[in-house]
Amino acid sequence: MVEKQLNLFEMTQAQLDEIASFINLDAGIHAILREPMKEFQVSVPVRMDDGQIKVFKGFRIQHNNARGPFKGGIRFHPEETIDTIRAMAMLMTWKCAVVNAPFGGGKGGVICNPKEMSPVEIERLSRGYIDAIWEFIGYYRDIPAPDVYTNPQIMAWMMDEYSKLKGYYIPEVITGKPVNLGGSLGRVDATSRGGVYTIMEAAKHLGMDLSGATVAVQGYGNVGSNVALLMRVITGAKIVAVSDSKGGICNPGGLDPRQVLQHKVETGSVINFPQAENISNAELLEMDVDILCPSALENVITKENASRIKARLVGALANGPITAEADNVLTSNGIMVIPDFLCNAGGVTVSYFEWVQSLDKYYWGEEQVHQRLNQHMSRAFQSVLAESLKQKVSVRLAAYCVAVNRVAEAMKLRGWG
Ligand code: NAD
Repeated sequence: MVEKQLNLFEMTQAQLDEIASFINLDAGIHAILREPMKEFQVSVPVRMDDGQIKVFKGFRIQHNNARGPFKGGIRFHPEETIDTIRAMAMLMTWKCAVVNAPFGGGKGGVICNPKEMSPVEIERLSRGYIDAIWEFIGYYRDIPAPDVYTNPQIMAWMMDEYSKLKGYYIPEVITGKPVNLGGSLGRVDATSRGGVYTIMEAAKHLGMDLSGATVAVQGYGNVGSNVALLMRVITGAKIVAVSDSKGGICNPGGLDPRQVLQHKVETGSVINFPQAENISNAELLEMDVDILCPSALENVITKENASRIKARLVGALANGPITAEADNVLTSNGIMVIPDFLCNAGGVTVSYFEWVQSLDKYYWGEEQVHQRLNQHMSRAFQSVLAESLKQKVSVRLAAYCVAVNRVAEAMKLRGWG
């Protein structure tokens, strides 16, 4: 018999089932958490530049709001499906809970290919999507943010459309806005910075001296390039290898992340950087380094290559770079893995700060954002580490336990189960 391939949402539900049996989760709470609380499916008509009307399918999924308003990004992607968004909405519930941001989880998306649309068409689609969902969102109800192929400009149009519909300026309804429209300082590199703070806590626990520690980073986009830069600037670690979709580069003496970025801007890739040797992405993952930061794609460390990973510490900055099976192999080989929904939660944490600042109409300095981010990420890591040591389980499993228990407790206190 052919084994049924699970889709992303079914995999996310299976992960919850595993945690539920491990923590003896109340059956009623478990049943509620397996499904989103609300789902909205909308059709968004957009007049294209050639005068024709095209109708785009959009979604907003609200998984759980026991701990606060739903929170999660909006994706514009040609291969979007309702199940991908359901899965990501559930993951947002766990991510917000693990860093103790007072939010539940949600996610939105529109099936479209922004690479084939003009800026004006993208603006019309962004406004049309808000026209379709505005009654279901709100600064105490559901707060969207940017995600795949959406950006601060799109958030500005969406916030403007929502404000027009309500009749007054409401920046707090969306995060990830441009800084001079109620965005927060420190948002651009928040995901990477938050990841670096968790790596610093993990290194402390492992007794690893970060100054001079060797680091390999897969991916050199927003997350990867900032991780390389901040690991070097904040911790004094040595970046020995980085990569992008075209391949990787390596220099055991250390790379200058800024110069590598300049080279990528000029040539379109990190490869052929003058002071380095070209390597493949597979070679980068298996290098003998202290710290490995997969910061590009999902499913890059699988049961096929997990046993060949030599890093002592892996900071999963991308979403889903390590399969559950591979995580077990790494853990049993004594490699500490900081799971994605903890390691890359710096972005949503600064989104939380942005929401607070927008509600207050009082904006913080960049230093204050960094300090509070450090505090949040360090506390989150420490509570997960304590759980992992107490239960004698991997950091990934411990992070799920902390998150699911926090949500379940809020649901019980509110009388939901
Ligand atoms: P990005 O598009 O800016 O960069 C992606 C990088 O990955 C690029 O350098 C690209 O060349 C590289 N890449 C693509 N295919 C590759 C391959 N086969 N091998 C190696 N490298 C490859 O994206 P980003 O915003 O940096 O996001 C990276 C990851 O982090 C994604 O998984 C994303 O979901 C996750 N993430 C991002 C944020 C954020 O705030 N940007 C927050 C949470 C999670």
